Amino acid sequence: MWSFEQQLGKAEAEGTEAARSAVAAALAAHSDGREAADPTYLQLFLLKYVCSEPDCFGTLVPLAPDATTHACNLCGAQRTDAEFMAELESSMAT
Ligand SMILES: [Zn+2]
Repeated sequence: MWSFEQQLGKAEAEGTEAARSAVAAALAAHSDGREAADPTYLQLFLLKYVCSEPDCFGTLVPLAPDATTHACNLCGAQRTDAEFMAELESSMAT
């Protein structure tokens, strides 16, 4: 049985690259459509693409098709994939 919590616990122990792999695996696991409405996938999707500024709720979109930096379409706040991973790791550490 695949457990996202186990993956994250492992990722915290092994560092950012492992965390990135865990997220990639979590996202890739759903690319074939077997589990279209998984709450963990939805949570990750929202964490990655919804602006983290308080009371904004804008959508983070890539600055370019292959960019690793996303910008909010409402307040203009920018966040890189690296910053997202750092935020994800700190939120999982609590
Ligand atoms: Zn925003």
